[in-house]
Amino acid sequence: MIFINQDELKLINNYTRSPFGEDDVYVFSVVLCDNEIDRDFERFSDDTLDAFEKMFVGVTGITDHNPKSDNQSARIFSCRTEYPEHQKCSDGKPYKRLCARAYMPKSAKNSDLILSLESGIKKEVSIGCAVGKRICSICGDDISVCSHIKGKSYGNQLCFAELRDPADVYEWSFVAVPAQRKAGVIKSYQSMKTEESMNIEKKLRSQTEQHFTADEMKLLADKIAVLEEKAAQGEFYCKKLKEDIMALSASALPELSEHILQYVIDKMNITQLDEFKKSLEKKAAKSFPVVPQLFRNSENDKNNNIDYKNI
Ligand SMILES: [Zn+2]
Repeated sequence: MIFINQDELKLINNYTRSPFGEDDVYVFSVVLCDNEIDRDFERFSDDTLDAFEKMFVGVTGITDHNPKSDNQSARIFSCRTEYPEHQKCSDGKPYKRLCARAYMPKSAKNSDLILSLESGIKKEVSIGCAVGKRICSICGDDISVCSHIKGKSYGNQLCFAELRDPADVYEWSFVAVPAQRKAGVIKSYQSMKTEESMNIEKKLRSQTEQHFTADEMKLLADKIAVLEEKAAQGEFYCKKLKEDIMALSASALPELSEHILQYVIDKMNITQLDEFKKSLEKKAAKSFPVVPQLFRNSENDKNNNIDYKNI
């Protein structure tokens, strides 16, 4: 028999369409993640775990990372970090973990899952999240740009990445114990660089002879094709911006000679061109105002000196 206190029931009922009684819900505890160095040679910083405390509340659990809505059977209603007494990480740092309380309705659909949780078959949980920074344990730089490689030792120091600045949490998922090998944390990096492409980049920058696997070469070739396509689109957009600027400036900046303008815009990057075009558009709109009657300033109108707002 699982005990639910009234405070917990109140928290749970924040998420339910109609109020649940204590016999209607199954409540359980899970450890979502911790600050141990994982199999990817990464660890959450203590601050990241603290931030997760709030971020995971309300997040639904799914089975085997399949986000179909009928897989979403449990929801976290409270979360806290704790330092279990006398426990240390593999490198001697005090062990810290993020524990959650979750509930699911006691329905026929959930009965198998509840049974497997009760019996301890499903008790491993993995999470999906995005972080802003991966900091190298050796040099303190972003691991994607420094020369160190995760999992290697430098002197007697292991290189791993500390995951900081959590940006998002997507899910948490039950993992059956026989598949424990897969249990762990699914992390994504905000820069969208994959582990493989980071390794390729490091090899390319290493200034030493390197071996590339067939997969790495394919990834590199695909990446070049994508970048070429993006570059072509960017060039097309740039050309279009320059043409628009030349056309707009004829009326907005009639005093400026065409070749000086051309010289100036050739030195601008795409963001500057975009800003310049917008400001020319505003200037042109002021010279030839086409605005609703609503914005007319009647005081100035009287003097035939029309002024317009909200352009
Ligand atoms: Zn480093």
